[in-house]
Amino acid sequence: MRALRLMAWQSPAVLTDVDVPTPGPGEVVVQVGGAGACHSDLHLMHDFGPGQLPWEPPFTLGHENAGWVHRVGAHVSGLEPGQPVAVVGAWGCGRCARCRAGLETACERPDLAPVAGGGGGLGLDGGMADYLLVPAARYLVPLPEGLDPLHAAPLTDAALTPYHAVRRSWLKLTPGSTAVVIGVGGLGHLGVQVLCATTAARVIAVDTRESARDAAKRSGAEHVLAPGPDLTAQVRELTGGVGADVVLDFVGSDETLAAAAAVVRQLGDLTIVGLGGGSLPVSFFGLPYETSVQSTYWGNRSELVEVLDLAARGLVHADVHPYSLDEAPAAYEALAAGAVDGRAVVVPREHYAP
Ligand code: NAD
Ligand code: ZN
Ligand code: ZN
Repeated sequence: MRALRLMAWQSPAVLTDVDVPTPGPGEVVVQVGGAGACHSDLHLMHDFGPGQLPWEPPFTLGHENAGWVHRVGAHVSGLEPGQPVAVVGAWGCGRCARCRAGLETACERPDLAPVAGGGGGLGLDGGMADYLLVPAARYLVPLPEGLDPLHAAPLTDAALTPYHAVRRSWLKLTPGSTAVVIGVGGLGHLGVQVLCATTAARVIAVDTRESARDAAKRSGAEHVLAPGPDLTAQVRELTGGVGADVVLDFVGSDETLAAAAAVVRQLGDLTIVGLGGGSLPVSFFGLPYETSVQSTYWGNRSELVEVLDLAARGLVHADVHPYSLDEAPAAYEALAAGAVDGRAVVVPREHYAP
């Protein structure tokens, strides 16, 4: 079968031929109907090097996956070939205290997990291939009526990650509050929708690209702004002088973190989602009093079920741009060039083929 593989750090992924996986006991092989191209994959291809992450190449990319159950291993029940499913991406051990509580992104026994601190497309073979081996049935969630794998794939990361991040700040996103979203790409356009669907906050979206600001408006942002020297004053003006209750930074560069710190309000949340490599000095007088600074990492199965429900009800909709598997390298080139509004999704199969 075809697979887009990261062969070494600091190199573009290559389309190559590998064996179709066979499911062992407890495992499931999924025929891939959608694999989203996440900016994190660009960080894998360009920014990371040996020893920086708990795993090493080679592996197949694609950690944002949906498709159809194809073959199930021994002892797997309740899943039928052809059934459409979304893949829960963070594969924990399933046995430690965090995993038992459903928090597999925070697995504390990575030595017992299929891969330490990762999943398919992050250390193990992912979904940019005709088939994906999923090591446990609990990593699959059946798609609700009306959702197809093409549109479901981005929900497993590009929507799930912002959902998890927004959820952590729900109590601050009251009527009258303001949320600022910095970076309105794959995650950000869904982040704006999640804010609109689950909170009463007004959303101000910030992006360097005009087409991304237009996507933010379509996603429900009340105001869109370009970053720059006027940003702080503009956010203050739009918030009656006080700043934003919650700032979600989907870029994470020095520049955006500084902007986030400049616009966040006293008692607010500053949430770092983007892996842009920047840092933010944190000190008592460096931020408004009682501002919380937090990072967030992906999301878990129960949250994915909730995100799928939001999408099935039309409250969240991934703006997708399909690419064939043969075109997968072009999807990443477009993402790197800032030419994707919404999410580029690689589609190895449009329909289930037994
Ligand atoms: P993307 O390329 O689709 O979107 C990034 C957006 O940020 C683009 O619209 C771009 O124009 C905009 N941008 C870039 N620089 C900017 C600036 N200085 N000011 C304002 N906007 C700017 O990327 P994505 O796939 O949405 O991923 C976003 C980030 O989130 C990446 O760093 C990715 O690695 C990270 N990520 C983190 C998690 C997590 O669990 N924390 C999960 C998935 C992705
Ligand atoms: Zn990702
Ligand atoms: Zn665990």
